[in-house]
Amino acid sequence: SRPVVAIVGRPNVGKSTIFNRIIGDRLAIVEDMPGVTRDRLYGRGEWLDHQFSVIDTGGIEIDGDDEMLKSIRVQAELAIEEADVIVFMVDGKAGVTPADSEVAELLFRSKKPVVLAVNKIDNIRRTDDIYEFYSLGFGTPYGISGSHGTGIGDLLDEVVEHF
Ligand code: GDP
Ligand code: MG
Repeated sequence: SRPVVAIVGRPNVGKSTIFNRIIGDRLAIVEDMPGVTRDRLYGRGEWLDHQFSVIDTGGIEIDGDDEMLKSIRVQAELAIEEADVIVFMVDGKAGVTPADSEVAELLFRSKKPVVLAVNKIDNIRRTDDIYEFYSLGFGTPYGISGSHGTGIGDLLDEVVEHF
């Protein structure tokens, strides 16, 4: 069956924006998908010769830092279980946050391939903002912009390498 790509990260980094750009109008019927929980969305993506499923995690708004961290943890663990490749998304405007480090630690312990996407790199003047994310330990951070749709091709090139 199709490889599964999960988009994981703390709230507000732009996961749903990128998910929508990747799937276009190919939102999946949830009943067809395994392991559905109510705060996840499934869609289909295509890149080059590859067809894959995409999971957008953490759709529910959470109040308070404790609840947020708990939810991020649950979503990351589900993603690790279900996905063949994980896109770990962070916010290039915000820089590295404690919640990012928490997610990084969980993903690091999994054996799944992780591709690091630094969103909100909206213009050339922001490209320097990606470098601090090397500290998360997942190699090359891919600068992308959900607002402009830039960088997503290079990101997907790396993702399909792991299929
Ligand atoms: P999620 O909580 O991770 O799913 O994030 P969303 O996709 O809901 O986006 C959170 C906020 O960031 C929204 O206000 C988006 O419009 C905004 N956003 C998403 N992508 C970008 C981007 O590339 N650049 C900027 N400046 N804002 C973005
Ligand atoms: Mg979202």
